[in-house]
Amino acid sequence: MHLIKDCPIIITKAAFKAEEFIRKKIELFTKDCDPFYAVDLEDICNKHVRWLTAMPRVTPHYAVKCNDDILVLKLLGFLGAGFDCASKTEIKKIIDLGISSDRIIYANPCKQSSYVRYAKQVGVETMTFDNEQELMKIKENYSDAKVVLRIVTDDSSAVCQFSMKFGADLETARFLLEKAKEIELDVIGVSFHCGSGQMTSQAFVDAIKNARSIMSYGDKLGFDMKLLDIGGGFPGNTGTDEYFTEIAVAINRALDEHFPVQSGVRIIAEPGRYYVASAYTLATNIIATREMTDPATNEKKLMYYVNDGVYGSFNCVLYDHYIPEPTPLKKDISGKQYTCSIWGPTCDGLDCITSSTCLPKLTTDDWIIWKNMGAYTISGAVQFNGIPFGKPLYFMAKPFWDNVKQAFEQRPVQYTRALKYRMNSECGNEVEDEMLPWEDLEDSILPSILI
Ligand SMILES: *Cc1c(COP(=O)(O)O)cnc(C)c1O
Repeated sequence: MHLIKDCPIIITKAAFKAEEFIRKKIELFTKDCDPFYAVDLEDICNKHVRWLTAMPRVTPHYAVKCNDDILVLKLLGFLGAGFDCASKTEIKKIIDLGISSDRIIYANPCKQSSYVRYAKQVGVETMTFDNEQELMKIKENYSDAKVVLRIVTDDSSAVCQFSMKFGADLETARFLLEKAKEIELDVIGVSFHCGSGQMTSQAFVDAIKNARSIMSYGDKLGFDMKLLDIGGGFPGNTGTDEYFTEIAVAINRALDEHFPVQSGVRIIAEPGRYYVASAYTLATNIIATREMTDPATNEKKLMYYVNDGVYGSFNCVLYDHYIPEPTPLKKDISGKQYTCSIWGPTCDGLDCITSSTCLPKLTTDDWIIWKNMGAYTISGAVQFNGIPFGKPLYFMAKPFWDNVKQAFEQRPVQYTRALKYRMNSECGNEVEDEMLPWEDLEDSILPSILI
């Protein structure tokens, strides 16, 4: 099965929660204390199904920058999602999976010219722009491109804002459409992004309305405006279902009002964090501890040093304004909580994951787990000080996967490589028996799966 080729996936007989899975892994491989992710592939499949159910008119194009883990890309490719790529490397990653170029939107309004030529070479014809120079650049390097005009949004209530960097205001947008007409570049639609970690559905509603007005102007100029791209910004953490549904309902209503089915406009979105945030649970090991006494209050303060930090997975603390929440894995600890800080493993003082939180007394070799760590973590991590960040270890229950495969197998996805997998029907009932030694999981030739 292509999805697992070369990848350390574990298909379990029964459903597992990430925390149980982490416990098992640690129990089995006690000597290995490197940080790792328990990646719940079922969670990603569920997100996809929920998306299709909540917004049946909107085709998701997963934003690769959010987490470019090859297995996530393969899985979403298999499930039939499209992709939002922002560079040559991201485009190449998708193309190399054998996914056809018409499922990619090159959604970076400011592109290096050689990347535009690369897009032409591999046939990625849909791309965004928001300024006149970009229009000229695309005309010069890929005159047959289908371009999408990115308009500005009110992203003041989003955690990560983009409007100071991208998006044409409505007046500029009209001017750009006229300019495109003049140089004969084909504008096919409008896109926007309401900011990442968007907190209100109103931002989407307003942007859809503005897109309608710009697309009508484009139609008037003689373009055939048939694509609306509503961007990303959808919540992805555990417990945000209700909020996601609320946004979806508002979007559906706005679409029905401004872009009814009869309009023939194709609608896509570019969700990133929605798909991956909750699927990744990071397990870190405490490598050192210190006890300090605050001279002013005489209060005891604990310092925990763990083996992944802000140069690694926790770069989201700096770049994504994320506040990660630590949970000790140990269950049998006394109720007393201490004020503590948690630090990464590098020699930099900046490498602080959280400067003040409350945890019970823990010791070296204990584990701390962190939920909702799939978005903007791995993709921005580096191995500073030569210290590796968490490696993903994927899991999914076999009966679930069988159902998903059955439901999605007929989708038109072309893969270039032959499908190959190892079968082992001899395994026992215990999940332990189904797990390979950790060393084997890192062997890219041995598919690390037993079905
Ligand atoms: C980052 C980005 C996304 C994804 O945003 P999320 O908030 O993760 O959904 C989508 N589209 C564009 C153009 C982006 O820059």
